[in-house]
Amino acid sequence: MKNVLITGGAGFIGSHLVKFFVKNYPDCNIINIDNLTYAGDLNNLREIEDQPNYRFIKQDICDFSEAKKIFIKEKIDSVIHLAAESHVDRSILDPFSFAKTNVLGTLSLLQASKISWKDNFKNKLFYHVSTDEVYGTLGEKGLFTENTPYDPHSPYSASKASSDHFVRAFYDTYKLPIVISNCSNNYGPYQYPEKLIPLFINNIINNNPIPIYGDGNNIRDWLYVKDHISAIDLIFHNSKIGKTYNIGGNNEISNNEIAKILIKKIDKKLGRKSNKSIKLIKYVDDRLGHDKRYAIDSSKIKNELGWEPKYTFDRGIDKTIDWYINKLT
Ligand code: NAD
Repeated sequence: MKNVLITGGAGFIGSHLVKFFVKNYPDCNIINIDNLTYAGDLNNLREIEDQPNYRFIKQDICDFSEAKKIFIKEKIDSVIHLAAESHVDRSILDPFSFAKTNVLGTLSLLQASKISWKDNFKNKLFYHVSTDEVYGTLGEKGLFTENTPYDPHSPYSASKASSDHFVRAFYDTYKLPIVISNCSNNYGPYQYPEKLIPLFINNIINNNPIPIYGDGNNIRDWLYVKDHISAIDLIFHNSKIGKTYNIGGNNEISNNEIAKILIKKIDKKLGRKSNKSIKLIKYVDDRLGHDKRYAIDSSKIKNELGWEPKYTFDRGIDKTIDWYINKLT
């Protein structure tokens, strides 16, 4: 029986991961710690909350002493660490909370692992889930590889870059067994509606303005959340210690294109006149320090672990829109 600690399991990606592990690994105990910020919601986990191999503990990861107690009491063997402040706009308004949760919170968990495992790291693993935003921004060409130098621009990406560095430092200094993955933008059901895709979907459904930063030509690589979960699953079970993997969807799409795709699909699904909602688009002042383009080279995880995304953007976005329409109408 393995005791797997998942942090941030009440959030968007974390709740998909917890549900996947609880259902697919009945011989593992899944312990979810989350302090339920505005972004965490236990309703995301209703379908598995009574399973015998699942346990939720409301806990702030920054509290090292309590974190350490949980590691010892629950006999934690491995960690998949997702808890974070994750919204770039919030990081611009309040960078301190990002440094606290993302940097000090990660350090607290690293130290709790090291101490509770008493430097005996056999069959132990600390898996840190990170973002492609640590690499900064790209011009019109090129892709982020695992060797791209870190160049974060927002307080969010700076805090995630710092947490990645701490995780590697624990590997280099103490030989703590770690892996890191850096993933592109996720979308899918259960995402808090301040992020671009659920915000646009909500606003189109409710006939509210669709705010697009700057000229709308910023490009992101989009990955359906279940494809991220399948990559985490593979890395968790099969990666060699100390490795880093980039995860991406091969879906480079500008914010303008995203808005148009969503308008077309939602107007059709709601039986509205074709493209009726195009008038909702409203260009607003650009985000400070807005990165122009992200794009991921996922060839390492494909070649070494055999991972590939299974959802085309068309299929993933249909499932996402249907989920929000079902929830909101
Ligand atoms: P989210 O904001 O939806 O969820 C974060 C969760 O962490 C919430 O449940 C929140 O309550 C919890 N949390 C926050 N501070 C905490 C603290 N101090 N102690 C305990 N729990 C705390 O985030 P998400 O989009 O699901 O992202 C999860 C992870 O994946 C993050 O580390 C993020 O950097 C990374 N990531 C996200 C994306 C994306 O597109 N969403 C892409 C790549 C990487």
